[in-house]
Amino acid sequence: MKPIRIAIIGFGKIAADQHVPSIAGNPRFELVASSSRSGEGVAQTFTDWREMLRTMEGLDAVAITTPPSVRHEIARECILAGLHVLLEKPPGATIAEIESLRFPSAGAGTTVFAAWHSRFASGVALAGTWLSDRVVHKVEIIWREDVRAWHPGQAWIWEPGGLGVFDPGINALSIATAILPGPLLLETATLVHPLNRAAPIAASLGLRAAGGVPVVMDLDWRQTGPPTWDIIVDTDRGRLILARGGSSLTLPDGAATHFADREYSALYERFHALIQRRESDLDLTPFRLVADAFLVGRRESTEAFFD
Ligand code: NAP
Repeated sequence: MKPIRIAIIGFGKIAADQHVPSIAGNPRFELVASSSRSGEGVAQTFTDWREMLRTMEGLDAVAITTPPSVRHEIARECILAGLHVLLEKPPGATIAEIESLRFPSAGAGTTVFAAWHSRFASGVALAGTWLSDRVVHKVEIIWREDVRAWHPGQAWIWEPGGLGVFDPGINALSIATAILPGPLLLETATLVHPLNRAAPIAASLGLRAAGGVPVVMDLDWRQTGPPTWDIIVDTDRGRLILARGGSSLTLPDGAATHFADREYSALYERFHALIQRRESDLDLTPFRLVADAFLVGRRESTEAFFD
């Protein structure tokens, strides 16, 4: 079978760290081009994605790894050009613009994949299976990291549409919406904004899972040292701890199991399967919860933040 010829649009940290090695490690894909305004990239490089679409022959798919605020137009044009599209998380800037991709994609017979990479961490599916026949009593999500370490020099995350601390926090929500009895509903939110920034540096959320189960979430970008990416679920049969962003799982009767990182390789396997079936996967559930937090959230201010 011929490999799917794919290009990366928006060549930054995640493109270099994860997409390039994951595509290279998957014989079902061939990375043939990349585009970024700076000219950074691999294979055949372009500084204008439109020119790439106009001139590249035999391109089948793109992975769009720009900041979310510019993704919609690129995605739409790629779909109209007949390409399969992988959208990095979060899949866009607004709910309506992401939803609007469904119709052209169905019309063009192409796949659109909202790639929630954290759902592919090895502990997530196991946690979901374990929880499926337990009664959940309460859930605590702690998602704290050092923004200077994880997003060095990235100005866009602080701009409107950049999501601030929800840029990593949406990963937790993508896991929670996959493993907890849903739908998850947001009740309260407090968003803490530095005086000089448009996006929050910290937040606390109160949600409910099915049956009124309380879910509290604490997000903070001011933690120095190792990150904390933990989901703690208390059930009728004991406590489950999904830690390290989903790559470590502790069940009530045992020690923690740590899994190797295979999120992006699994992500590309899923993308390939969707393309083979000509299906799309545009789940917006995690993004809706973030939008709801901005809708009902109480805003507080904190000291200015400087890189
Ligand atoms: P990044 O390092 O800032 O890279 C984004 C790239 O997009 C830049 O290299 C930039 O290249 C291009 N770009 C920036 N503004 C643009 C614009 N207005 N129009 C077109 N291209 C633009 O960001 P990143 O960390 O890779 O994050 C990208 C996406 O991946 C985000 O949605 C993020 O949530 C997601 N993600 C990131 C991580 C992570 O650990 N960093 C992990 C998982 C997912 P040029 O300026 O050269 O065009």
